[in-house]
Amino acid sequence: MTVTLPSVYSPQEVERKWYKYWEENGFFHTEPDEREPFCIVMPPPNVTGQLHMGHALDNTMQDILTRYKRMQGFNTLWLPGTDHAGIATQAKVEEELRKEGLTKDDLGREKFLERVWAWKENYGNRITEQLRTLGASCDWKRERFTLDEGCSEAVKEVFLRLYEKGLIYRDYYITNWCPHCKTTISDIEVEHLEREGKLYYINYPLEDGSGYLTVATTRPETMLGDTAVAVHPEDERYRELIGKNVILPLVNRPIPVIADEYVDKEFGTGAVKITPAHDPNDFEVGLRHKLPQVVVLDDNAVMNENAGKYRGLDRYEARKKIVEDLKDLGLLVKEEEITHSVGHCYRCDTVIEPRLSKQWFVKMKPLAEPAIEAALTGKVKFVPERFTKIYLNWLYNIRDWCISRQLWWGHRIPVWYCDECGEVIPSREEVKSCPKCQSTKVHQDPDVLDTWFSSALWPFSTLGWPQNTEELKYYYPTSVLVTGRDIIFFWVARMLFMGLEFMKEVPFKEVLIHGLVLDAQGRKMSKSLGNGVDPVEVIASHGADSLRFMLVTGNTPGNDLRFHFERLDGARNFANKLWNASRFVLMNLEGFTPQGIKQEELTLADRWILARLNAVIDRVTAFLDEYELGEAARELYEFIWDEFCDWYVELTKPRLYGKMPGGDTAREVLYAVLKTTLELLHPFMPFITEEIWQRLPHEGKTIMLAPWPKGRADYENPEAVKQMSSLMEVIREIRRLRAEVNVPPAKRGEVILVTADEQLTRLLNENAWAIAALAQSEPRVVPKMEVPQGALTGVAAGVTIYLPLKDLIDLEKEKERLNKELKKVLAEIERLNQKLNNPGFLAKAPAEVVNKEREKLTGFYREKEVLEQRIGMLSHEL
Ligand SMILES: [Zn+2]
Ligand SMILES: [Zn+2]
Repeated sequence: MTVTLPSVYSPQEVERKWYKYWEENGFFHTEPDEREPFCIVMPPPNVTGQLHMGHALDNTMQDILTRYKRMQGFNTLWLPGTDHAGIATQAKVEEELRKEGLTKDDLGREKFLERVWAWKENYGNRITEQLRTLGASCDWKRERFTLDEGCSEAVKEVFLRLYEKGLIYRDYYITNWCPHCKTTISDIEVEHLEREGKLYYINYPLEDGSGYLTVATTRPETMLGDTAVAVHPEDERYRELIGKNVILPLVNRPIPVIADEYVDKEFGTGAVKITPAHDPNDFEVGLRHKLPQVVVLDDNAVMNENAGKYRGLDRYEARKKIVEDLKDLGLLVKEEEITHSVGHCYRCDTVIEPRLSKQWFVKMKPLAEPAIEAALTGKVKFVPERFTKIYLNWLYNIRDWCISRQLWWGHRIPVWYCDECGEVIPSREEVKSCPKCQSTKVHQDPDVLDTWFSSALWPFSTLGWPQNTEELKYYYPTSVLVTGRDIIFFWVARMLFMGLEFMKEVPFKEVLIHGLVLDAQGRKMSKSLGNGVDPVEVIASHGADSLRFMLVTGNTPGNDLRFHFERLDGARNFANKLWNASRFVLMNLEGFTPQGIKQEELTLADRWILARLNAVIDRVTAFLDEYELGEAARELYEFIWDEFCDWYVELTKPRLYGKMPGGDTAREVLYAVLKTTLELLHPFMPFITEEIWQRLPHEGKTIMLAPWPKGRADYENPEAVKQMSSLMEVIREIRRLRAEVNVPPAKRGEVILVTADEQLTRLLNENAWAIAALAQSEPRVVPKMEVPQGALTGVAAGVTIYLPLKDLIDLEKEKERLNKELKKVLAEIERLNQKLNNPGFLAKAPAEVVNKEREKLTGFYREKEVLEQRIGMLSHEL
């Protein structure tokens, strides 16, 4: 039995209802069994986050693949979760405290962390609720959090095993320090932006009083930490000075002149100050020459006790003051305006301060090698392939990974220190006393691990590692990772080397990379531009199905896509089109029980639509297997909109209304095609398809678990496709001719179809009713005929078409109308000619504008020709 549909589709109501039904019935949940597994781990969004367009795209793609594979009969697990997002979350809670006039230090570590957990309980499920409104069919019963007990155990275990293997070490190092976030951030979290700045030339007096050595720097405040001046060993200008001392101005400390290949002879004066504690290159030079490392800035980027009289000044105030003092001493040679690249914190936009501090590192070379090999040997494949190169380049040039962060919110580093003997004690358990000297004066490292350390373990920690669970054995390695191209380094590469190290297998066989969602003008969506589109609002106004369809149709793997509201409206119109056609079908299926299609009763249109359905099943399936989700969606769009709604449904009407025999067969075919099409469309538009499918005769509780459609050999019918396409061409041409002279749509008249081909003649005669129904024209098929008087002529599919106008339109009126048109066109031609002959315009207007006007003129000339022809034709026949 069927149930009719309401006249208007309201996605909001429908979407809520079905999501609840799916989740409550456990359709998303799965357990290991004897079927073949298909598993995706969701890139965990920040627990502080709100759904943005990037998430909407990313998760729509994952949901499409998940629903597709589930219908294909795979044991399909899409594993969701959230990321504790160290800096972001801690900053949110600190901001909240600030409003209460408190800092985290007022609360202390333990109380502060309680506050963060409380915050997480309150707001942490916002994003997972939003993912539900998008239709995400992930297994919420398996939802994980990077800071939950299991993930924390995995993190500790990985840290200690790497430590025991000698792959984790602690050292002084130059790291990127964000004075605002007050933590070290990794190289890839630094955004390099072009900024205006100054290059200061400063004279450093030679110790022997014989002159000066001039150095150039953009950060004069760091000179207080200089421990050498370096020149190139082959630089003739300075050969004599190597080994001598200069006096560091303002500090009056002698520092050596050294020779190092790193120096660029062409830059500035060819002599550079070396500040090992505040510059990554200088740090390396310092190590080579065993130079002291003098730190002059504190955690807030304020000058410290090593800065003498500048102590307590902010870095920029200190810069000003130092430049003034150098001027007074006559040591400032000149200032040069320059544009240079300056590192900024990607979270807060503060200028990064390279700074020396003791940090924990992961030694990358040994871990990177298997990750490189996995890509080279195809154990992991990137889609599109071009991203393999980007991934490999990063791994070839990889530096050790600084994993400690000076935060409280995160996985605390599982290392204790003995205050008495200095012993370093890595441990799985809480350490109460020193194993070496038995002192109870021990303390745990205050730092936490980089958030990406825990997300790097996500594909196996979420499946139960370090325990060897059923899930881990069954679902690992996972099938495909879907993610944005912006986190290939942050995340994808790290999951790969961690997975290879601890599971001895890649974490996923394929990586499907997508681009960013840009605004309509192709700009990145950002808070500061105010050009972001909120997916939650779009879902409220247009429905999740429309948003999903819009995101996926504009999209080819790896490329950015632009968000156009017109395209969103287009997706909604598509949903409405499907709804209206389905409504029509359902009304006509009242009292219908499917009996199966009887081949011998099928008409040409039936055989055609079934053959086309077969082709669509094959193509959609093939596109989905190649991750061409946009192509699959386009295929469905065209089939549903054009072939099914505009042609097939229209062609069934005479039969359904009893004007022609075969109504029951039409119902069988309508039912079969609609139901199958809904199943094909379900992964893209899960809600509307469920809503309609449930009202059609069906088996099972949900379209979600309906078997994925398969083509049927007995539906193959190239002959029917060929014939139908000829018939459609003829009908289209008749419609075009009628439209050309403004025949009122309901006005019926004769059309003469001329063909000597016997097959075509039979086809046209047998389907004369279709031509009458779809082109309001009674066809007369003849083998030969001269052009009749007063008829439009067209050709389609080898058939010559004459459309006599006498009975269709008022010829006088039409002529009048055409003459009016012609007058307008002539006026435009006149105007444009004048403009284009005006030397003033030609001189001033940009070439682009001139070309556009020329194009317009050509267009008008073409129109003029057509109008004159048409008028001539009408006049001739009177
Ligand atoms: Zn920052
Ligand atoms: Zn000790």
